[in-house]
Amino acid sequence: MPGFELFGSAERKEVEDVLESGVLMRYGFDGMRNGHWKAKALEAELQSALNTQYVQLVSSGTAAVSVALAAAGIGAGDEVIMPTFTFVASFEAIIMVGAIPVLVDIDDTLALDPSAVKKAISSKTKAIMVVQMCGSMGHMDALQEICSAYDLVLIEDACQAIGGTYKEKALGTIGHLGCFSFDFVKTITSGEGGAVVTNNKEFYVNADQYSDHGHDHVGNDRGAESHPILGYNFRISELHAAIGLAQIRRLPDFLAIQKKNYTMLRDALSKIPEVTFRTVPNGGEESYAILNFFLPDLETSRSVSKNLKEGGIDGCFHYFDNNWHYVRKWDHLKNVKSLYPVSKEIKEGLAYLETKTFDQSDHYIGRNISCLIKLSWTEAEVQARAHKMATIIKSSI
Ligand SMILES: *Cc1c(COP(=O)(O)O)cnc(C)c1O
Repeated sequence: MPGFELFGSAERKEVEDVLESGVLMRYGFDGMRNGHWKAKALEAELQSALNTQYVQLVSSGTAAVSVALAAAGIGAGDEVIMPTFTFVASFEAIIMVGAIPVLVDIDDTLALDPSAVKKAISSKTKAIMVVQMCGSMGHMDALQEICSAYDLVLIEDACQAIGGTYKEKALGTIGHLGCFSFDFVKTITSGEGGAVVTNNKEFYVNADQYSDHGHDHVGNDRGAESHPILGYNFRISELHAAIGLAQIRRLPDFLAIQKKNYTMLRDALSKIPEVTFRTVPNGGEESYAILNFFLPDLETSRSVSKNLKEGGIDGCFHYFDNNWHYVRKWDHLKNVKSLYPVSKEIKEGLAYLETKTFDQSDHYIGRNISCLIKLSWTEAEVQARAHKMATIIKSSI
């Protein structure tokens, strides 16, 4: 998945354009910039690559999730349903806007289980945040149906899934709002950066203003602007956007390499009867950024994970024991370890985490191993890796 493996002259050329004009800011300075609008150009490229109406670049994927929530008017005391398996950014963003994260089990897609989502809906629920983990997706039709039936906003965190599709639509463009990250380890990188995408004009205008201090961006050279709303600074810089611009143009190549490498590894592992793979919903196509597989039980997964590491196979994760991606180790969320006081609603709203167990999520994440698919591997390297992984797994079962 990491775009950082492959960058060079195209990225350098875009950055040089920015340095040449000296305008590192995405807004204003119209006369100085020699026609270089890298953030605007990247927004246009994303719009066409993802086939979505509106794109707002921001400073990170985490900012994208916060801005998406704010753009949909989600805030104090509202509940947002999110999965037990995701990156910590999901609950950070929810708490930042004053809302309450309601954690819900995943299923064998490694994303939200629609039946568990339904059970978690209360009168305070405002949104469902599906996280398209590890390059694939949840049961989007079922989640969309629930959102329509209960009048909820569907937010898709597609930070790990750029290039994946569901029924011909790009992941991130199926919900009311979608979020992407271009941090250093994502499929395409801008160093740091993110994007909010939507087909809803009101949400887009909100995201555009909120991410730049509430400026309405009316007129040229910032001369005629006013502040219709309160906002913050989640802007991306022109330097970051420049790198992203070169990378998005290479996305089709990156996806083709990912798919090829993923398929070689998967073919080798699928010959082992004890190895199974996560469900990709009908009509879905992964981005092939990460290969996920299940082993028969927790102990086998722990030993396979250890043996892969010791055998020199890097980039494979047993997220069950990992503090960044799975609920079991999120102690800073469970005890709300915030530097400043959080609202009574958030404190009380999170009390359920002291006793709640997530047996269904444990059942999947306990047995799951996720392996990063790199872009820089040669075919011989992938074959050698596939052979070594299969040998290690077979001897660990
Ligand atoms: C990386 C990631 C984020 C956050 O993106 P940053 O750009 O690192 O802030 C959010 N959600 C998921 C699922 C991610 O993988």
